[in-house]
Amino acid sequence: MTTTKHRVTGSRTWLYVLLGLMILSGIGLSLATEHMVRQVARTFGAPLERDVPALERFAAFKSALLLHQAALGNYVSASIDLDGYDELERHTLEQMHVNEADVAAELATDDERAALRDGVQQVEDLGRTLRAALMRKPADRREVRSILAASNAATTGMLELADRGRFLIEDRLRIEGRTAMERNTVIARLVHVYIAFAMIGMLVMLYHVRARIRSEDALAYLATHDELTRLPHRWAFLERMQGLRTQDSHLLVFEIDRFERAAAGVGPAHADELVRTVAARAADVAQDARADLFRLGDSKFALVLGAAAEDTPEATAARLQARLGEAILAGQHELYLSASIGSSRLNRASLPLSLLEQAEAALHHARRQGATHVAYTRQLDDMARSHLALEADLRHAIERGELELYYQPQQRLADGGLVGFEALLRWFRDGAFISPADFVPLAEESGVIVEIGDWVLGAACRQAHAWNRDARAPVTVAVNISPRQFMQPRFLERLRHHLEKSGVRPDCIELEITEGMLMECGERSAALLADIRALGVRLSVDDFGTGYSSLAYLKRFPLDKLKIDQTFVRQLRADGGDAEIVKAVIALGHNLGFEVIAEGVESAQQAELLARWRCDEIQGYHYGKPMPATAARAFLAQRTADTAEALA
Ligand code: C2E
Ligand code: MG
Ligand code: MG
Repeated sequence: MTTTKHRVTGSRTWLYVLLGLMILSGIGLSLATEHMVRQVARTFGAPLERDVPALERFAAFKSALLLHQAALGNYVSASIDLDGYDELERHTLEQMHVNEADVAAELATDDERAALRDGVQQVEDLGRTLRAALMRKPADRREVRSILAASNAATTGMLELADRGRFLIEDRLRIEGRTAMERNTVIARLVHVYIAFAMIGMLVMLYHVRARIRSEDALAYLATHDELTRLPHRWAFLERMQGLRTQDSHLLVFEIDRFERAAAGVGPAHADELVRTVAARAADVAQDARADLFRLGDSKFALVLGAAAEDTPEATAARLQARLGEAILAGQHELYLSASIGSSRLNRASLPLSLLEQAEAALHHARRQGATHVAYTRQLDDMARSHLALEADLRHAIERGELELYYQPQQRLADGGLVGFEALLRWFRDGAFISPADFVPLAEESGVIVEIGDWVLGAACRQAHAWNRDARAPVTVAVNISPRQFMQPRFLERLRHHLEKSGVRPDCIELEITEGMLMECGERSAALLADIRALGVRLSVDDFGTGYSSLAYLKRFPLDKLKIDQTFVRQLRADGGDAEIVKAVIALGHNLGFEVIAEGVESAQQAELLARWRCDEIQGYHYGKPMPATAARAFLAQRTADTAEALA
C-alpha cells in the first residue's frame, strides 16, 4: 500500500519536473529566438540602410564619370554643340560632386581618398582646358587629343578606385549575409531540439493521461459494478429504479436459500465461483426476458422488468427457479441451489423505492415458506405488521412471565427406561398459546432469541438439577440452541454460568444444534464445540437429515447423538423409502460412535421397527407428549417407580 503510494507520488513528481522543464525551455527558446531575430535584423538592417544606398551612389558616380568622358568625346567629334556639352558637363560634374564624399568614405585608405578627390578635380580641370582649346580658332588637334587622353586616363583611374570601394562593400555584404544565415540555422536547430523535447514530454504525458483515464474508467465501472460478477450493483440499481416510470414495470428480488451454508460447504475458493455461476444463470434468464439484472448483496439479485420485458414476472420467476435448480459443480461438490423470489409491480400510486420495499417484503415471505415466488399484496403488509407486534410482545415475554418450558420424555429402546426430556419452549401471550414454530423464527430474526435462549438454558439447568437430586438414574435435559444464540460470543460463558449457578451435573445437559449451524461457522464452531464438550455437556444434532449437508463434517465435530428428523419417522413402514434412510442414518451414527434417537414416534409399530433396526432411543407422542414441569415430574416419578418395581 505504502509502496504503491510512494510510486504514485514519485511518478507524479517526475511528471511535474518534466512539465516545469517544458515550460522553462519554452520560455528559454522564445527568448533566444527573440534575441537571434534581433541580431539578424541588425545584420541585415546595416546593409539595407547603408550599403545598398552606397552601392547606388557608386553606380551614380560611375555613370556620371562615364557620361562626362562621353560628353568630352562627343564634343570633340562635334556630335554635340557647345550648349549640349555645357549642359552635360554641368550635370555630370554635379553628380560627381554629390556622390564624391560618399564614395570616398567607403575607400580603404587616405591615399585612395586623396587620389579620388584629385581625380575629380583633374577631370573637371581637363574639361575646362579642353573647352578653352576648342574655342581657339583654329584649334590645335594634337593638343585636343592629348587633353582627351589625359582625361580618359584620369576617368579610368577613378573608375578603378570606385570599383575597389564597391568590392569592399560587396565583401561586407557577403559576410553579413553568411552570419545571418548561420544565426538562422542556430534558431532552426534550437526549435528542432525543443520540438523533439516537447514531443517526448507529450508522449510521457499522453502515457500518464491515458493511464489516468483508464483508472478513472475502472473506478467509474467499479462504482456501479460488482467486481465478482461484473453485474451492475446496488447504486446502479437504485438509479435504475429512480428512472423507472413505465406503468406495469415489475421488480423481482431473489436470494439463494441458505447460501451461507452452501458457501461454507464448498469452501471460500469455490464460494465465489458459486456466486458467479448463479449470476451467469440469472443473466441468461434476464436476457431471455429482456430484463435488467443487478446484484444487491452476497446472493441477492434484482431483475427489473421494464417496458421492453417480454415475459410476465410469474414466467420469469419460474424460469429462474428452474435454471438455478440445475446441478452446480463447485470443485468436487455437486450442489442443488434454490432461490426465494419476491416480486412487486409498479402502479400509479407507488414510488420506485417503495417498489423495492414491497419486493423485499415479498421475498421475506417467500423465504419463510421456502424457495417459492411470492408476489407482493396488501395482505403481506398486514402480516408484516402483525409480525412486528408479535416481535414487540416477545421482547417482554420473559419479564411478564409468559414463557414456560414443557418437557417431552425420551425413551431408551433397549430396556424401555426413561433417558430424559427435551425442553420445549411455550409462549402464552395474554393467555393464548403461540407455537414455537411461529415465534422462534421471529425471535431468531430479531435477535431476541439470544435473551430468550439464555432464559431457557437457565431454566433447563435448574430443572435438570432438581430432578437429578432425587432421581436414582441420571436424567438428561436436552435444550434447543438457536444459531444466533450459538454464534453469540458470550455463549460459552453463559453456559458455564448456568451450569455453575444451578449446580447441575454437566453430563445431564444436552445441547441440540442443527446441521446448518455446524456447516455455517466452520472452524469457529469446531473450537466452540470442543470447549462445550470439555465442560462435560453433551451434544446432539437435531433434525438430522433435513439440512443439505456434506456428511464429512460429522467426523470433524465431537458429537454424542443424532436425532433423526420426524419427517422420516412420520410414515415409517418396514419397506418404504423412509425405512432405508432411517436404517442408513442409524448405521452411520453407530459407525461414527454416536447414539441415535428418532423424533416424532407416534405409534407402537414405529417404535417396534426402530427397536428392530437397533435405534437407541425414541421421542414422540407414543412415549409422551411435551408437558409442563409438574407433569414431567410426575412422569419421572412414575417411571422411576416402575423401574424399581420391575427390579424388585
Ligand atoms: P424440535 O427441536 O425438532 O422439537 C420437536 C418438535 O416436534 C416439538 O415441536 C415437539 O412438540 C414435536 N413433536 C414431538 N413428538 C412429536 C410427535 O410424535 N408427533 C408430532 N407431530 N410432533 C411431535 P414444538 O414444541 O412445536 O417445537 C418446534 C420447534 O421449535 C422445535 O423443533 C425447535 O426447533 C423449536 N424450539 C422449541 N423450543 C425451543 C427453544 O427453547 N429454543 C429454540 N431455539 N428452539 C426451540
Ligand atoms: Mg429439538
Ligand atoms: Mg427436531
